[in-house]
Amino acid sequence: GLLLAIETSCDDTCAAVVARDGEIRSNVISSQGVHDRYGGVVPEVASRHHLELIETVVEDALAQAGTTLPQLDGIAVTQGPGLVGALLVGVATAKALAAAHRLPLVPVDHLHGHVAASFVQPDPIEPPFLILIASGGHTLLAHVKDHGARWGRDGSIEVLGSTRDDAAGEAFDKGARLLGLGYPGGPALQRLAAEGDPEAFAFPVAAQVPGLDFSFSGLKTALLYKTRELGEEETERRRADLAASYQRAIVETLARRVERARAETGIERLAIGGGVAANGPLRERLRRLAPDLHVPPRELCTDNAAMIASAARFAQPVAFPGYLSLDAYSSGERGL
Ligand code: ATP
Ligand code: FE
Repeated sequence: GLLLAIETSCDDTCAAVVARDGEIRSNVISSQGVHDRYGGVVPEVASRHHLELIETVVEDALAQAGTTLPQLDGIAVTQGPGLVGALLVGVATAKALAAAHRLPLVPVDHLHGHVAASFVQPDPIEPPFLILIASGGHTLLAHVKDHGARWGRDGSIEVLGSTRDDAAGEAFDKGARLLGLGYPGGPALQRLAAEGDPEAFAFPVAAQVPGLDFSFSGLKTALLYKTRELGEEETERRRADLAASYQRAIVETLARRVERARAETGIERLAIGGGVAANGPLRERLRRLAPDLHVPPRELCTDNAAMIASAARFAQPVAFPGYLSLDAYSSGERGL
């Protein structure tokens, strides 16, 4: 049996076909280059592009997998959280395609998707394990107890800590912007940091928040003040050092929380997910903590539909016509 998944929560239009056992048959991602010039994602622009791209992206995913709609077991779609206008394009498309072929629909939570990126073949990790999900909109540390989608202490995924303000990816993006780099800033900042000294500047690590929560807004402010203190010329001259020190502070903040979570729970197995998991120094730092750190391939860390199909294997399908009234949600459905 095969599942088609559609993901349109932000600015990437994605469709994928995944088999029941977690084997990826196709994984199509169409990135909207148009947001670079605005320094971030413009919701209306994102929705319009999803509308233009979705049909072709779905056709490509089916063709590359060598399958057709009537042959599928069901259609999965990201229901939220994300940009509502963007999500609606995916939800409407999935509902229409599923209804036309009387297929079941599987609504998937985007963050369950980021977790389920760790469940795909050929190298799935088996629960229980701890996972750090660090993306453009979220930073959370969770205990994954089974493959399922139920959130909470008694559920499948228990959140141990999350960010109080900015997400880790946002910290990368905002820092990159302060240093005059383009959007998305994470990869650019990592490249610049490779030429700098991470010890050059002391930025605040693991800000004063209790328990296993995170905070990154102070770090961003510290970088802003440092660039003002240095002045334009000196900031320009020391950009690589600033990037390296700033990146080190983000990585250390994340790593120390992971370290504490491992000590408190006694769970040693560790996985990472979300766009920031693509960051090399973060991977290296976490590998020093957990040598068998589970890292999905890069294209499964940033937004993609294969992870949504992977999650759908463990989520509740809704039979036709029960899903016709299904709506997208922007946030808050998991009761975090
Ligand atoms: P969410 O999943 O919370 O809705 P999102 O979908 O925007 O947010 P992802 O696509 O998972 O997030 O990740 C994008 C983020 O990852 C961006 O903030 C980007 O800067 C960051 N990122 C990508 N590659 C790297 C890297 N090499 N180093 C650091 N950050 C990175
Ligand atoms: Fe995401």
